[in-house]
Amino acid sequence: DDAGVPGRVRVVVRLRPRNAEESVADADFADCVELQPEFKRLKLRKNNWDTDTYEFDEVLTEFASQKRVYEVVAKPVVESVLDGYNGTVMAYGQTGTGKTYTLGRLGEEDTADRGIIVRAMEDILADVTLETDSVSVSYLQLYMESLQDLLDPTNDNISIVEDPKSGDISLPGATLVEIRDQQSFLELLRLGEAHRYAANTRLNTESSRSHALLMVHVKRSVKGRDPAHSIQNGNATNMAKSLRPTLVRKGKLVVVDLAGSERIDKSGSEGHTLEEAKSINLSLSALGKCINALAENSAHVPVRDSKLTRLLRDSFGGTARTSLVITIGPSPRHRGETTSTIMFGQRAM
Ligand code: ADP
Ligand code: MG
Repeated sequence: DDAGVPGRVRVVVRLRPRNAEESVADADFADCVELQPEFKRLKLRKNNWDTDTYEFDEVLTEFASQKRVYEVVAKPVVESVLDGYNGTVMAYGQTGTGKTYTLGRLGEEDTADRGIIVRAMEDILADVTLETDSVSVSYLQLYMESLQDLLDPTNDNISIVEDPKSGDISLPGATLVEIRDQQSFLELLRLGEAHRYAANTRLNTESSRSHALLMVHVKRSVKGRDPAHSIQNGNATNMAKSLRPTLVRKGKLVVVDLAGSERIDKSGSEGHTLEEAKSINLSLSALGKCINALAENSAHVPVRDSKLTRLLRDSFGGTARTSLVITIGPSPRHRGETTSTIMFGQRAM
């Protein structure tokens, strides 16, 4: 199993169940896809008698639990972040297919509903020692190439700074909140959601038109030899350094709830919405190009084409682990969008 292999992107498809409206309106029609999880295959219906078959790293049916989704999509990434690497978990798909459900559900009524973000933080807090380690969080929205701080709405155009030597990305103006327990983390997420809602109301837009990024920085004091950063540098000085009693090991997890991938109908939209559509298309296609480059093992990953990819540049490729969850709905009425989502996922493989 290559769940934890750095460099290449792990692509998982998740089908959401029919909703109440679809159960009625599409009652006489078959789903537009048929999943064969045992073969990690998805069949896309072209018409009544023809299907195309696609393979993914994992295929999750409408019966997959949130726990299973976490384990398949995010757990290997979280584990490598705890070991001092960077990692990214992204959800891509048409609005209404379950990106936020998959990543962001808080599960306050029923803990079985908890999404990837909440489960990731639970695993992180369970693994670190808060006397010597630290966990801190930033929460941002990227809308029309402008980066907004969801933890402090007065910060509305944060710049991205890249360390010329290490290539590490930092966001000097962004709020960073230290997390000590799950309850305060949930409160922070709720605060971020409220700020996101307020900002989008003010901008007269919808959250589906922007990307939401949660960044979790894990800093750990490691005693003795640090497996994450010393193995490749086997020379004497580095060995000596790695044997120092305390050493800080840093990992960063970025969880990205991407803007809806649907084509926005240009004929029916004007000004504002058309600009949004262009911006979304730009950033998602830039992301697609980077993911393709990783899939093809290309030396050049074109991260500079959008703010989204510049933000993620130290979080995918190299030693970083990346998982992409492709969310789709079952309705035959959305076969076109579903097809383009599946193609995006295929190009990442
Ligand atoms: P997106 O973020 O992609 O726009 P949402 O996560 O908001 O989509 O999901 C749209 C609706 O479908 C929500 O009401 C959500 O609760 C529901 N939903 C999504 N995925 C699932 C699922 N796997 N099981 C049950 N309901 C789901
Ligand atoms: Mg959403």
